[in-house]
Amino acid sequence: MARQFFVGGNFKMNPASRDAKRKLVDALNQATLDPSVEVVIAPPSLYLLPVAELVRNNVKVAAQNCYVKLSGAFTGEISPAQLADAGIPYVILGHSERRTIFHESSELVAEKTRVALDNGLSVILCVGETLQEREANRTAEVVQEQLKPVVKLLKDADWAKVVIAYEPVWAIGTGKVATSAQAQQAHADIRAFLAQSVSPAVAESTRIIYGGSVTAANCRELATQPDVDGFLVGGASLKPEFVDIVNARQ
Ligand code: PGA
Repeated sequence: MARQFFVGGNFKMNPASRDAKRKLVDALNQATLDPSVEVVIAPPSLYLLPVAELVRNNVKVAAQNCYVKLSGAFTGEISPAQLADAGIPYVILGHSERRTIFHESSELVAEKTRVALDNGLSVILCVGETLQEREANRTAEVVQEQLKPVVKLLKDADWAKVVIAYEPVWAIGTGKVATSAQAQQAHADIRAFLAQSVSPAVAESTRIIYGGSVTAANCRELATQPDVDGFLVGGASLKPEFVDIVNARQ
């Protein structure tokens, strides 16, 4: 079965006001989106519920993070059980900003993935190498090291609810997008790793999306690559061009 194209918008800690958030959602509601694409936007947690209520066009919402525990004395955290209870279907886990700024290890990300899935959430699982690691030809190895703890904790059936976002750290928010050949190679390597460490069927059906300076100008060429199943978009998800990225395959 063909993998459904997936486009996520990661708003990060934006926009700066409720008014701006409302305008973003209104624009998306008025747009004509390719109905064959799964579209998920991830506003800051404060806006998850209002956005989920406002959004139309089959667009879903995602949290940008969650904790490993379901409740308790964890000031500032959001429980995956609370997200599920609020009807939030997706959560982004392991974003490079979480890994670098907030020191999340691959083991913690794997544990969060396990708990999120156990609570009925789908997961956008982010992996990716730094510039230094790419220049040392360690991209595949680094990404595999990030995936291994997840592979250890998941059963084959769990992967149906996981989208892997390959996001090279050097491309995130820098304007330096990976070439389509670089993205295709990294995605093919991830798929080969899944085939060998999980199963060929899981490798074939798991969506692997690209993130890092995706724009309306570069998305079409990236979308032609056989192993690029969509995008995770940061900066451009706050702009009208997000619609063009959703429609990259049209
Ligand atoms: P960017 O961010 O599109 O602004 O590079 C992508 C991401 O962090 O998911």
